[in-house]
Amino acid sequence: MAKTKKVVQFTATDIKEELLKKYPPKVARKRAKQIMINEATEAEPAPEIVANVRTIPGIITMRGCTYAGCKGVIMGPTRDIVNLVHGPIGCSFYAWLTRRNQTDAGTDGENYMPYCFSTDMQDQDIIFGGEKKLEAAIQEAYDLFHPKGIAVFATCPVGLIGDDIHAVAKKMKAQFGDCNVFAFSCEGYKGVSQSAGHHIANNQVFTHLVGENEVAPEGEYKINLLGEYNIGGDGFEIDRVFKKCGITNIATFSGNSSYDQFASAQHADLSCVMCHRSINYVADMLETKYGIPWIKVNFIGAEATAKSLRKIAEYFGDKKLIDRVEAVIAEEMPEVLAVSEDVKTRTNGKTAMMFVGGSRAHHYNELFQEMGMKTISAGYEFGHRDDYEGRQVIPDLKVDADSRNIEEITVVADEKLYNPRKTPEEIKALEDAGYEFKHYDGLNPDMDKGSIIIDDLNQYEAEKLVELLKPDIFCAGIKEKFSIQKLGVPMKQLHSYDSGGPYAGFKGAVNFYKEIDRLVNSKVWSYMKAPWQESPELTGKFVWE
Ligand code: SF4
Repeated sequence: MAKTKKVVQFTATDIKEELLKKYPPKVARKRAKQIMINEATEAEPAPEIVANVRTIPGIITMRGCTYAGCKGVIMGPTRDIVNLVHGPIGCSFYAWLTRRNQTDAGTDGENYMPYCFSTDMQDQDIIFGGEKKLEAAIQEAYDLFHPKGIAVFATCPVGLIGDDIHAVAKKMKAQFGDCNVFAFSCEGYKGVSQSAGHHIANNQVFTHLVGENEVAPEGEYKINLLGEYNIGGDGFEIDRVFKKCGITNIATFSGNSSYDQFASAQHADLSCVMCHRSINYVADMLETKYGIPWIKVNFIGAEATAKSLRKIAEYFGDKKLIDRVEAVIAEEMPEVLAVSEDVKTRTNGKTAMMFVGGSRAHHYNELFQEMGMKTISAGYEFGHRDDYEGRQVIPDLKVDADSRNIEEITVVADEKLYNPRKTPEEIKALEDAGYEFKHYDGLNPDMDKGSIIIDDLNQYEAEKLVELLKPDIFCAGIKEKFSIQKLGVPMKQLHSYDSGGPYAGFKGAVNFYKEIDRLVNSKVWSYMKAPWQESPELTGKFVWE
């Protein structure tokens, strides 16, 4: 197929108008507030974007449900807690290892991730109630595996019929004595998106697990890594780099995590936040209750990794660590630079679109920049305004009915364990030197002026964007994978990485460069034939013709 690449003649305003044209006026008005042209100037910040609001009924969203965020994203990567889904089997299957979270089963061999535990609710359970069935399922899981913990997840029907999963969990926990059973009211409909599920999951992890292990793990420069999910082995690569630097990662929330890691998190001296959206509130709670400060980091991109390592070293302020980090960066970077220089000869100037997650669309910007590529349009599935515009907007965020659906837990300084890791003077000295705690600028400042930022992109808009702007690569999730590829554009999943990864850290950057190079320069698209090109009796043409 001789595919003529579209010559892009549209301005960002034209694109926005085109995207909205097909909608009824009321829908168009709502969507217009979620589609933003990035027009920040020196004097004025970028315009406000509406985010974290319900998808308009009838629109095929890219989002997942609240249960998916709780069970699939946050608790899914934890290997030694039995994840028992109370609901129909479809919900269990949907959230079962679909994100390719990897784990190291450790020396105890306790790894329940390959299993799919479900109460498999049937019609009679909906009519007569499912609590007895849930009780029996918890008992069965306990008898078979004797795990340290059993987590119970509510799905939509459970909320509708009113099963009290917390009462059942409490009863079983008391009955067992040696197994922590706790539950999550994370019914799929409970929030706007999977973001609500992240919050519900993290609140329960903080309430039921953090602080349980009194003995501090050994190691120097102890940190927690929050919002890293070990997809395709990202967490393994980050841990490899930490180890090389002499940094002890006590707990990752929640990639390659275990019960004991969560239970020991209060022993860290610094929290490092990767995915701001899914976990920034845990970092705040760790600070309030235990006195652990937090910083934003990013290990997606070689330069970003180096910057984050230096930031950690600067926090501890120990010359031994600072020198070690510099030595590791000096050792790792030559390979990264050699590959990026090579791929850049083929990727420079190519364009990407990214619609993923609550931080991924931002993090991967760095990797594309390192390849000389430009992100022309991006957005989040479940981001909030602060993920776009930066944390300074948090005080202005409206608390709506959906936000009130999520339990707010009140955290105060722990009488015994609160221990500020740095004095106010030390914090101030670091800040005076330009160090930023609890800081995140969001996606918008890193996007080019005039680029299009879209919250909660949907199927129709995705196809329209590809038709109009013809990017060299489109990044999103499995739901978009094949519809985009059918348009003749390579599609890379950035939730599950297709079958690739890791893409984090130094080795991950090299993997990503090579993979994207292959995708954007593949000839496979030119061999695709549309039916009318092979059968003369048919007529048709591509949208860009
Ligand atoms: S929306 Fe409800 S029914 Fe669907 S997967 Fe989520 S919890 Fe299950």
